[in-house]
Amino acid sequence: MVYGFKLIHSLVLSLLFSSVLFIPSFAHSYDAKDLSVISGLLKAKKYTDAERQALLFIETSLQQDKTSSNFLALGKLLQDYSRFKASKAVLDAGLEAYTREGELLKIAQSLLHLASSERHLSNYASAEEYLRRSLSIAEMRKDRQLKANVHLELGVVYKQQDKLELALEPLKLALAVFRENGNVTYSSLCLSHIGDIYSLLGHTTLAFTYYDDAYSATSELSNTLENKRLLGIIKTKIGNLQLQNNEKEKGIQSITDGLDLLLSTNDVGAIFEAKMLMGKALLETGSTVKGIALLQEAMNFALESGQIGLVNDVRLALAQGYIRERQFDLALAFARAGTIDARKHGNMRDQLRFLAIQLSAHVSLGDFEKALDIQSVVQELREGLLNSENQNALKGLQAEIELVRQSGELEKLAESKQLVIAKAEREKLKNTLFWSASIAVLLMLFLMWSRFKQRQQTIILRREVRQQTEILQEKNSELERAYKTLEHVSLRDPLTGLYNRHYLESQLPSEIKRSQIEMDNISAPSSNRDLLCLLIDIDHFKSINDDYGHLAGDKVLEGFSSVLKEVFRQTDLIIRWGGEEFVVVCRHSSREELPELAERCRETVARNVFNIGNDKTVKVTCSIGFSLLPPNEISHFDAAWQRTFAVVDYALYAAKLSGRNGWIGLIETYHTTGSNRTPLDCKFDFPSSRIATSFNNIASIQWPEEVTG
Ligand code: GH3
Ligand code: MG
Ligand code: MG
Repeated sequence: MVYGFKLIHSLVLSLLFSSVLFIPSFAHSYDAKDLSVISGLLKAKKYTDAERQALLFIETSLQQDKTSSNFLALGKLLQDYSRFKASKAVLDAGLEAYTREGELLKIAQSLLHLASSERHLSNYASAEEYLRRSLSIAEMRKDRQLKANVHLELGVVYKQQDKLELALEPLKLALAVFRENGNVTYSSLCLSHIGDIYSLLGHTTLAFTYYDDAYSATSELSNTLENKRLLGIIKTKIGNLQLQNNEKEKGIQSITDGLDLLLSTNDVGAIFEAKMLMGKALLETGSTVKGIALLQEAMNFALESGQIGLVNDVRLALAQGYIRERQFDLALAFARAGTIDARKHGNMRDQLRFLAIQLSAHVSLGDFEKALDIQSVVQELREGLLNSENQNALKGLQAEIELVRQSGELEKLAESKQLVIAKAEREKLKNTLFWSASIAVLLMLFLMWSRFKQRQQTIILRREVRQQTEILQEKNSELERAYKTLEHVSLRDPLTGLYNRHYLESQLPSEIKRSQIEMDNISAPSSNRDLLCLLIDIDHFKSINDDYGHLAGDKVLEGFSSVLKEVFRQTDLIIRWGGEEFVVVCRHSSREELPELAERCRETVARNVFNIGNDKTVKVTCSIGFSLLPPNEISHFDAAWQRTFAVVDYALYAAKLSGRNGWIGLIETYHTTGSNRTPLDCKFDFPSSRIATSFNNIASIQWPEEVTG
């Protein structure tokens, strides 16, 4: 990319020397003879002789202590023929002499040319130092022309080091001064350098514009050797840019034209650089043998004149050529040598370019291990460049390295086993992660959905349960009501509202049991531990029905039940046993109360007036049979009740027989057999008993006759 830019170097100095600053004194120089001898030797390519003469010149001059010795002129002459080391020696001596003489201008000019020689020898730090010193003299003298020359050289030095943006500034300053002074040659020179920078930055169109400007401005000047040289150099540059722009034929033509122009001058440096470019172009277009021959020629010249920069440019071209020819070992040899030299001179850009070639060669040879090593070095250098201010060099290099990378050769590297495995692993991991994440999300969604569903279900269930509960409660209360009605109907007598015999039978077992427990419990008071039973029958009830009608009989039954409720306690069970017969069971009572109770009942009934409707009343009486319940110790309920009922029924019958409106009953039975046992004792096998009656005495009782048989 930068081939040919060095063509300018020698030109700068030759132009400087031919400027108004120098030429007049040169023409009448004391040492003009010596100079022409050396010039002759150089033209005859007798470089060693010329250099020897030059050293002699220095010695003689210093010995004779001649003032104004033309060190500058000799230094420039040697530079014209690319004798940079010799030129350095001459200029050094000149610097010393001029310093001694206090020749400020000549000191500044010597420094400027020393810088140029150092630049050609790739010693950029020294070059910058000389230019700094030269610039301070120019500023001190307020010498704008000199300052512009220093700026021009400084721009080139920066450009050579790829400090491209830094280079633009001094070049633009120099251009402004040269234009102001109407110095077309120098202006064109500046323009061509700026073109180089744009070319390096990849602004091809802009670079062409600058080169064209420089070329057309120069071609309008007189046909001097110097102008021809400048034209030749610019033309070569244009050709180089055309080659880069893939305009191969045009490029070769331009370089050929440039070389023709240069060949008519004595600038061997420029000629060899043009030859180097031509060699490179020929290699690119397939003329390998011719191309390599030209490059070899340029290489010999560069080595011999000590121009490391040019040497490396040639090496680069050769290495690239050999890569194209698939002679990788040769390419590697040149690239390695180039890398070493570039490193020695701190030229990162060239190092990277050679490393890129090495990388490409190793990949092509299948030596991936070495390729990887080099890639890591490349990486380090690139990072170094990134860290340095030299960002622009990186741009160009990135493009080149990218080209090598894209050449497809590196793909082999990418496909090497390890990389493939690593890629597969990464892919696998990515897949695993993706699926894990997806499953987790699905699971979460499912959980959320099922929870939501569950809640909904629960709500529905709760509602249903509530509804069912309400229905059940409603049914329960209905049932309860029905049960109550049923109970009322089944356990009560519809006419009197009293309990019926079913009720009594359902209640009696528990009453008897309790009574027995109470009897066993000695601590309880004896007064209220007994169960008493009374059977009450209305006397001659049939006649009421007969006399007043059945309804009247009913009225009497209702009235009779009211009287019973009046006579007995609320806790006593009053039962309509059937027809006009009633059973009363008294709880928590004493047996001793029996006669009193029976009498109170008989007396109240007999006293009562029963309303039978139609403002009519009747009076009735009743007969009562009673007994302790049970009359003797009987544990079984059925037996106890049957025995009791039989006793009260028997007693009632006896009361009827004894005259009605009275009572007979058993208060208690004894275990010991009495002397005068009643028919009741005999009937029920009581050893003896205590009987009470409302009739005169027990003996007067008319007992029912036993029907036997
Ligand atoms: P005694 O003094 O011997 O008991 O004579 P009595 O007429 O009361 O007895 P009896 O057993 O001969 O007659 C009972 C009558 O009671 C017969 C029946 O017609 C009548 N009776 C039974 N139940 C009812 C009822 O619910 N209403 C009415 N009006 N009469 C009834
Ligand atoms: Mg009766
Ligand atoms: Mg009766």
